[in-house]
Amino acid sequence: MKRKKLVIIGSGPAGYTAAIYAARACLEPVLFEGFYSGLPGGQLMSTTDVENYPGFPEAVTGPEMMKMFKKQALKFGTHCLLEDVKLVDLKQRPFLVEGMKTSFHADSIIISTGATAKRLDIPGTHDDELWQKGVSACAVCDGALPIFRDKDLYVVGGGDSAMEEALFLTKYAKKVHIVHRRGEFRASKIMAERVLKHHKIEVLWDSTVDSVSGKDYVEHVTILNLKTEAKTKRHAGGLFFAVGHVPNVQFLNGQLPLTPNGYLMVKPGTTETEIPGVFAAGDVQDFVYRQAITAAGTGCMAALEAERYLASIGLDE
Ligand code: FAD
Repeated sequence: MKRKKLVIIGSGPAGYTAAIYAARACLEPVLFEGFYSGLPGGQLMSTTDVENYPGFPEAVTGPEMMKMFKKQALKFGTHCLLEDVKLVDLKQRPFLVEGMKTSFHADSIIISTGATAKRLDIPGTHDDELWQKGVSACAVCDGALPIFRDKDLYVVGGGDSAMEEALFLTKYAKKVHIVHRRGEFRASKIMAERVLKHHKIEVLWDSTVDSVSGKDYVEHVTILNLKTEAKTKRHAGGLFFAVGHVPNVQFLNGQLPLTPNGYLMVKPGTTETEIPGVFAAGDVQDFVYRQAITAAGTGCMAALEAERYLASIGLDE
């Protein structure tokens, strides 16, 4: 088995940024891009315009941006593998990183596996029911599909993702209805205002989705008003979950401590985990900012910290 100075797991903004820095520092990094675990290129592969990443005043689409990240990582000699990491062993040194097809011994590891969208346990939405038959957890991935055109679409959630998903769906829907269990949004003020002003969006406050039904595809949703306890069955062409994310840490099998909400724990102001030589960058350790720029920033930090760590154990040459 080959021994590498640095293995990076995950190919979002954090992973590729770490790779650019590490490759330029001659660490010859290997980067596992993922395969079944999520989209290679990360969450931005499922979005349209990114308007807040510095350097792109005219905006750039998520996939275009990630293509450029990858090109830059490859240019300096990163070795990219289109594979998931199945497991790591952090008790042995060098560490073991086992991919679907390729495995390495690694002197240091950067974990940048991001986070995955959550789904709610609502009758009618499960895998053997209407999941992927009008029920989705990614409006920007699926919203343009013909089955959703000119339909009443329902978005569940009240944060920035829900606002973004609802606004995106207005391009295709007859009307977008946001179902939110509280009486006000958690989203940033600017996003909430955009939603509340939009003529194609209705907000169902203090409400949840009780069930989803339809023969082959979503045809109805039943809304429960939590204040009046009234249930209303409404015509629907689709339901989109926008209720947060689960950090992708399963392959670690509990070898690193997590925060109470399931994110990888790092020493404040660093990307260092509890185990020297193992670093965490991007959304997998960040439940506060969750932005491409912060993911890229911590990817840079992780690479610099890995470089210093390798130097401290005499492995920088
Ligand atoms: P991710 O982008 O989540 O990438 C994680 C990577 O890890 C993926 O490639 C996945 O395949 C891989 N992976 C997971 N498990 C494994 C494994 N076991 N083995 C190998 N690989 C694995 N941010 C902005 O700044 N601006 C925006 O406009 C914006 N729009 C967004 C729109 C949407 C719809 C979404 C969902 C997010 C948006 N974000 C935006 C947030 C931004 O996408 C994230 O903050 C950012 O992508 C996080 O980067 P990351 O590198 O930490 O992880």
